[in-house]
Amino acid sequence: MATRREIEGIYGPPVAHPVGDGFTVRGYFSVIPDAERKLSPFLLLDHNARHITPPTEHRVGVGPHPHRGFETVTLSWESSIAHHDSMGNHGVVGPGDVQWMTAASGVLHSEYREQRFAREGGPMHGAQLWVNLPKAHKMDAPRYQTLTADRMGSVALPDDGGVVRVISGEYQGVNGPAKTFTPVTVLDAHLRLNARADFSFPAHHTAALLVMRGEVTLNGGATAKASDFVVFRNEGEVISLAARSDAHVLVLSGEPIDEPIAAYGPFVMNTEREIREAMSDFQRGKFGHLEDEVPRAGEAS
Ligand code: MN
Repeated sequence: MATRREIEGIYGPPVAHPVGDGFTVRGYFSVIPDAERKLSPFLLLDHNARHITPPTEHRVGVGPHPHRGFETVTLSWESSIAHHDSMGNHGVVGPGDVQWMTAASGVLHSEYREQRFAREGGPMHGAQLWVNLPKAHKMDAPRYQTLTADRMGSVALPDDGGVVRVISGEYQGVNGPAKTFTPVTVLDAHLRLNARADFSFPAHHTAALLVMRGEVTLNGGATAKASDFVVFRNEGEVISLAARSDAHVLVLSGEPIDEPIAAYGPFVMNTEREIREAMSDFQRGKFGHLEDEVPRAGEAS
């Protein structure tokens, strides 16, 4: 018989900080005690809460930078994020899309507001999640998964209660398109007022959620409101949400990776020695090359 998950803590939003000159995010894990252990395999959640951006003629975002040892998962609900990397890949993460990038042994990439979106301005809402890789895959070749909105799993909630989009893992027998190295569940839940949705994860898996809009009741008790991040204990399985208003919730779960973490900025490895190697490889150009330039519309390239 499945039992309820107990709540470890409900954390309000941390102070937002800029990422490059194009994004303003709240880094939730920075305010959670023992996040590295509590939230494994997740390493970071930066939420770019919905806001209106003014039009700009400038290219705004983050210039070329490296990653090694983990995956970056870029989610867009509104806005379009352009991406270029040192292997010659480029693309745009548009509304409803997710880019699941396995940096693994290393890439250099840049992330910008897509040019037309930057020029027109308007509502922007997105997030980036970092997912750790097990030691056995930290030095694999990098890969991308371009997960467009039409490929997501979709589960309609009863009584016209909304929809749960499945990005990775499974919900109610529906699988998400993302391939992962360890069990990772990422669900994008849209609940209408008074809708209910139950989520069940193995007790030893991490479970957490971010309320992005509206207000929900958790397991018939505590309330979480917009911008609250909820971490659950590794006791019990079931999380019951009841929407006290129309609500938008990102639900995360995964099997913890029980290996040592050595992290320095964009490198997440197992030992300090591997961090020094990453820095040295980066300085020696082993991550490849990426010009801090992107072709502009109407220009020959
Ligand atoms: Mn990046």
